[in-house]
Amino acid sequence: MVHFTCDQCGKDLTAGGEQRFVVKIEAYAGFDPTEITDDDLDEDHMEAVARLLQNDEALDPDDVDSPICRSFRFDLCPSCHAKYLKDPLGRAPVRQFDFSEN
Ligand SMILES: [Zn+2]
Repeated sequence: MVHFTCDQCGKDLTAGGEQRFVVKIEAYAGFDPTEITDDDLDEDHMEAVARLLQNDEALDPDDVDSPICRSFRFDLCPSCHAKYLKDPLGRAPVRQFDFSEN
């Protein structure tokens, strides 16, 4: 039996019959394919790519922790899913502190 818990609050999503929401995030370097020109495809560019590949030799290509491309998958309970949709990047302050002047 597959066991699911909310990755945000830890709530058990298996036993209680709670609906489960899946969030997948992929983070990678973006480029516009329409910006590729003939100049990008010439020999010098291929040499640069080859150099980059050589520099990456030490890295495991299957390494999911690569800083270039990372993907995440989260299981969320309904309430955490709703909160996630309101603030996907977590930019809102966790708590509003009431700063009082002494
Ligand atoms: Zn949750």
